[in-house]
Amino acid sequence: MMNSLWSDGDVVNIPVGDDIAFRVYSSRLLGKDKSLVLHGGGNTSVKVLEKDHFSVEEEILYVKGSGWDLETIEAEGFSPVQLEHLKRLAGLPSLSDPEMVNELVTHMTRAAAPVPSVEAILHAVIPHKYVDHTHADAVVTITNSSEGEEKIRRIYGGEVIIIPYVMPGFDLARLCAQRLDAELTSHTVGMVLLNHGIFSFGESAKESYERMIYLVGKAEAYLQSQAAWDITITKDPAEYDRDAGLRLAALRNRIAGAAGFPMIMRHHTDPETISFVSCRDLESIAQQGPATPDHVIRTKRLPMINGDVDAYVAAYKAYFFENEPLAKERKTILDPAPRVVLDATLGMCTVGRSAKEAEIVADIYRHTMEIIQRAEKLGGYRALPARDIFDIEYWDLEQAKLKKAGKPPRFAGEIALVTGAASGIGKACVDALLASGAAVVGVDINPAVETLYVRLDYLGLVGDVTSETRLEEILTKTADTFGGLDMLVLNAGVFPAGCKIAELPLEQWRKVMALNLDANLVLMRQAHPFLKLAPKGGRVVIIGSKNVHAPGPGAAPYSASKAALNQLARVAALEWGEDGIRINSLHPNAVFDTGIWTEAVLTARAAHYGLSVEEYKRNNVLKTEVASRDVAELVIQMCGPAFAKTTGAQVPVDGGNDRVI
Ligand code: ZN
Repeated sequence: MMNSLWSDGDVVNIPVGDDIAFRVYSSRLLGKDKSLVLHGGGNTSVKVLEKDHFSVEEEILYVKGSGWDLETIEAEGFSPVQLEHLKRLAGLPSLSDPEMVNELVTHMTRAAAPVPSVEAILHAVIPHKYVDHTHADAVVTITNSSEGEEKIRRIYGGEVIIIPYVMPGFDLARLCAQRLDAELTSHTVGMVLLNHGIFSFGESAKESYERMIYLVGKAEAYLQSQAAWDITITKDPAEYDRDAGLRLAALRNRIAGAAGFPMIMRHHTDPETISFVSCRDLESIAQQGPATPDHVIRTKRLPMINGDVDAYVAAYKAYFFENEPLAKERKTILDPAPRVVLDATLGMCTVGRSAKEAEIVADIYRHTMEIIQRAEKLGGYRALPARDIFDIEYWDLEQAKLKKAGKPPRFAGEIALVTGAASGIGKACVDALLASGAAVVGVDINPAVETLYVRLDYLGLVGDVTSETRLEEILTKTADTFGGLDMLVLNAGVFPAGCKIAELPLEQWRKVMALNLDANLVLMRQAHPFLKLAPKGGRVVIIGSKNVHAPGPGAAPYSASKAALNQLARVAALEWGEDGIRINSLHPNAVFDTGIWTEAVLTARAAHYGLSVEEYKRNNVLKTEVASRDVAELVIQMCGPAFAKTTGAQVPVDGGNDRVI
């Protein structure tokens, strides 16, 4: 339930009159509460009297800049715009979007400030110092229920001005200006924007913030009084398919096919989600539209129900071609792939170009599920007509926000699994793959792999690669977390202490074979059906060894296991070509920045050859040192377009070795 998070103790150090610092503080309080503001939603402002270089005083509106999140906003996140100019604009009969943005940007007093929120003019026309705007769940639940407007009137009386739904931007600001002129009284503390959200305002940051909490608290109390607050969990999630592995990968493949590019897909089977997807009238309640229009940018207008991607794409195209002719200017269709999948046996899947994007979609849809269920208890969920949602989805200003993100990285939307990921070459591969935009699963027997990174696009799993059942679990977990598998980097291996064949115990031989050879066979076999479903074709990179072509005495098990692995890779290249899977090997030598090469071992080996450590490290044709990141760079190339037409290749990465050349 709504609670004010304001603490006078938090603001004791803010000097009286530092309006912006107070603005930052209470904006973050709003941002912290996900039932008020989600991922870039909502905006806030403060009006400040400032002197310019000629000592002329002028009122400046500091309004949230686009690209900033309320939860983490800083003073630089607010764009300063000349207030009088904004107020004059609100009196114009019309202003196009590009004209409006041009007016906002050319009337800022700090050139480097972000583009002001599209709701800047609306903030300007509210005659209070502080203005707060959220898309509070409780408020949109009520306005999106049958007879929502009547309910809002009954809850708030004269405390708020009620604004019918109008698309955000100039037209909404103009309408609000007129309504404020006609209806604002000394009792008015806010405005409810039907099917959109709520504004509060006041003379101090605290007053405006606490009015927001008060107003939303009232909406929550109303929901409780109508027995529309508690959501019952009707299903036991234990019945659900958590190990859907290949089904998920197949679904991701079809969605990527529809989108035209690979995407990350996250699978959710929490009790709330399972209850929602198993409700009898899912088809009708989940096919109405988002709770507030700007969610469409993340979630699309509708989720896909029960896995028929072709039908979803056909319906999306129909929606586009029905609404496009009504738009002011011509639009180009976006990719028609779903971002939310609701499935009676899978639960929910959320889709995005990165793991973070897919998780934002999940956050938004979890709130949507609550809103829908509560609105149903209030007499029925009523979303805006498709046409209004279309206008936001294809609004140039929203599209501009997405385009600003720029060209996606090389492996955006793709998933890689690396074995032996906790250190050395494996860790360097994890780093390079993450830096290239892939989501990465790192596997190692060393528990350090779990905490290598704390970020949404990394999953660290402890596991013994010689265990068939553990490998199966790892692949299932990979599909569950990211949706499938596109790239497999086989790196785990062991290099035992030297032992001549004459003394070699069979046990040691078998141990090396089990890890360096058998484990890779099993992992390749288990991964094959996943790699076959990789949207851009599966890729396997094998970390071989110089020893394949130039073995050394005392290293029989290692050299034989790597040579056998090399032959395994060549046969796989022949067998899997028809599945679009490429298998390439690289042969590193003398990579010293790994766990096995301690300072002591290095010194001893160098002395053995009568070399200094430096000479020993560069003891190759090019006289260059080969580092883990050099090997990782070749792995990235082998997974990327440079090797798109190559399979079964073996490339040395050793500075040149005269025995190999
Ligand atoms: Zn809004």
